[in-house]
Amino acid sequence: NETLPSNFIRQIINNDLKQNKNNGKVATRFPPEPNGYLHIGHAKSICLNFGIAAEYQGTCNLRFDDTNPEKESVEYMEAIERDVSWLGFQWHELRHASDYFEQLYDYAVELIQKGLAYVDSSTPEQMRQNRGTLTEPGKESPDRSRSIEENLDLFTRMRAGEFADGQYVLRAKIDMASSNINMRDPVIYRIRRVHHHRTGNQWCVYPMYDYTHCISDAIEGITHSLCTLEFEDHRPLYDWVLDNITIPCHPQQIEFARLQLEYSIVSKRKLNQLVIEKHVGGWDDPRMPTLAGLRRAGVTPAAIRDFCERIGITKKDSWIEMAVLENCIREDLNENAPRAMAVLRPLKLIIDNYPDDKVEALELGNHPQKPELGTRKVEFSKVLYIEQDDFAENPPPKYKRLVEGGEVRLRGAYVIRCNRIVKDENESIIELHCSYDPDTLGKNPEGRKVKGVIHWVSERHSVPAEIRLYDRLFSQPNPDSLDNFLDALNPDSLEILTESRVESSLTDAPPESRFQFERMGYFCLDAIDSTPGKPVFNRTVTLRDTWGK
Ligand code: ATP
Ligand code: MG
Ligand code: MG
Repeated sequence: NETLPSNFIRQIINNDLKQNKNNGKVATRFPPEPNGYLHIGHAKSICLNFGIAAEYQGTCNLRFDDTNPEKESVEYMEAIERDVSWLGFQWHELRHASDYFEQLYDYAVELIQKGLAYVDSSTPEQMRQNRGTLTEPGKESPDRSRSIEENLDLFTRMRAGEFADGQYVLRAKIDMASSNINMRDPVIYRIRRVHHHRTGNQWCVYPMYDYTHCISDAIEGITHSLCTLEFEDHRPLYDWVLDNITIPCHPQQIEFARLQLEYSIVSKRKLNQLVIEKHVGGWDDPRMPTLAGLRRAGVTPAAIRDFCERIGITKKDSWIEMAVLENCIREDLNENAPRAMAVLRPLKLIIDNYPDDKVEALELGNHPQKPELGTRKVEFSKVLYIEQDDFAENPPPKYKRLVEGGEVRLRGAYVIRCNRIVKDENESIIELHCSYDPDTLGKNPEGRKVKGVIHWVSERHSVPAEIRLYDRLFSQPNPDSLDNFLDALNPDSLEILTESRVESSLTDAPPESRFQFERMGYFCLDAIDSTPGKPVFNRTVTLRDTWGK
């Protein structure tokens, strides 16, 4: 694998392979908890885990880390499967930590039998107080010296439902004086009477994350367990559990830096709050940094994979600028999205010297650099719409678009001259009366230069559309640094235009089609809110980086 861009994880794996560790096998997993939708941070982990597996002809499982039934649901599991597939990855096996509840229970019994776990009746408050601090060792619970027989009996009865929620916990018996607080007899089982979306009411004791994760990895024969840096301090516990139970496999935990993205939030808990409090339309709101939101905005899986490749994998936390993601999206869409014309804020333009009933079907290229994307027909007629912004009654200096008495080229069509403005009683411009030069279709006019080119649609042929102009959800680079991240919400993150019109060729576009609307940005046909007579387009990203300018 000498040709691949290197990162420290590939170096570790290359070394392992040289020593024929794991018989030359590479097995990874992506282990989401189904308590929310996947976000752009998860994409980094997905691309890493699935990417590593593919590079080394290995395997990658999708494993639901579903040990916390209060917060988890089938809806989230389904969304996660959909999003991982959409991103372009196929898992080797679909697993659930809950598949291992019986085995996990048996291993806990093994720890008890070895004198390495005990049932404790301390309250959460007592446990917090006795855990100690970085400089002070913890205090041992009086229950720590309970006999193996008694522990076995109590743990069996915990499972049998004889005790109230929280009455007892099972703790690993490690070291209350450890310099690593995670090793001070962590809780590994608790009593919780909650319905689990997969195991129903079969269990009233549930294993804790740290205990479950390492055993699940080992059961699946994972070789490299890649996780984010905050688990570095948990690695001794990961290894302790596996060293003390009878299990043939001991995966290696390797930590890498989380993705932190400016002007964004990558925490399911906070994203959930945005949904519940209706600051956004849902988990798939195009402003959300979720994969479902990015998808609905029109971002392609390829752009997200490209982004993950570019930011790389390191051992050090850092902030990634939003512009990095936006540029990946722009580059991808610039290359691949066909062009089309849409007038977002229409102004009527009448060509007085064009015959009333005449229609010309002009042939326009779908992509300036890619003739292979073909052409389409766009109808030209006497009454058109142009963008309100493309006409100025009092033009600023260097204005190259249409002015009274001035000329402009209509994209792919003729040069026109504006002769007269019509206003309503409020002095708002409602119509422009123009004339066209029939000799200018596809060629320059004689003896004069026309610099400006503007886009247009035909009144009779274009289709009314709703256009949603999305902008960044947060107006500050680090919403998390505020006491309340909601204070950073951008009040102008959505503008809805209901009078827009798009060219007729878009009528048959399939849901999720992406376009560059000439001069206006990249847009995606909304798969959910569009109706046959009224398509809805979401702005994916502007043509250039205009944020803050
Ligand atoms: P959240 O705080 O959003 O709930 P999490 O880490 O608790 O995130 P999990 O469902 O447990 O979410 O994550 C599944 C995997 O994705 C884990 O291995 C986790 O480390 C990884 N992951 C989560 N967030 C990020 C991120 N911002 N950057 C990189 N990897 C991430
Ligand atoms: Mg987690
Ligand atoms: Mg979490």
